[in-house]
Amino acid sequence: MPRSLRTEAIVLRSIRYGEADRILHLYTPGYGRQAAIAKGARRARSRFGARLEPFFHIRAILHEGRGDLHTVTSVDTISAHAALRDHAATLDAAARACDAVARLFETPEPHPEVFRLLANELALLDSDAVHARTAIGLSFRLKLLLAAGIVPQLASCAECGETDHLQGFSAAAGGVVCGSCEAAAFPLNQEGHSFLVGALGRPLAQAPDASDLALAQAERAITETAEHHAHVRLRPLLARG
Ligand SMILES: [Zn+2]
Repeated sequence: MPRSLRTEAIVLRSIRYGEADRILHLYTPGYGRQAAIAKGARRARSRFGARLEPFFHIRAILHEGRGDLHTVTSVDTISAHAALRDHAATLDAAARACDAVARLFETPEPHPEVFRLLANELALLDSDAVHARTAIGLSFRLKLLLAAGIVPQLASCAECGETDHLQGFSAAAGGVVCGSCEAAAFPLNQEGHSFLVGALGRPLAQAPDASDLALAQAERAITETAEHHAHVRLRPLLARG
């Protein structure tokens, strides 16, 4: 007997398909990432209305089909996050957040904390455009690394355990490294290190501010960690000079 999944979901991607359908990439609390087809969703009188756009937080019933593609049979909107579509910066930050989740968590394995983190990020972007700042975007990614089980070691040298003279970062070593172990590392200054510790330890909205240099170093640490340990390439947040 085919199953029906009754679940909350966030629409990561919504792709036109055929004459009138949409294929949705959804992130759910209990079923991880799921793909579903919404038949007739692009017809003028579709019962789905406009509820199947990216960033929508919905409650849906997904009917299990053959293979991996479910069929959407019912959708209610929990939040449309309409306000985040008013600014290029919040729209872009939301797209990058959904893209990072899609790349790091691409299976049905449940990660309810990732769902809550993404819902929180979208709600913040929707509530005030100030939340599009880079520090929050990096904090979001760092928390994703934590959920993926690949958060970098920050308290002591990832090679030798030394707690002083931490001045580099090595994704291969798994975190910060000291002056004697920095062979394969790039420089991570005190401010960049403090940012990573603060961003990981605080709620998303309270991500510490930092200089452009520190944020660039933190982004490099996050990006190289995702590449080295999850073989995932994240889209850059900061423009590279
Ligand atoms: Zn060391």
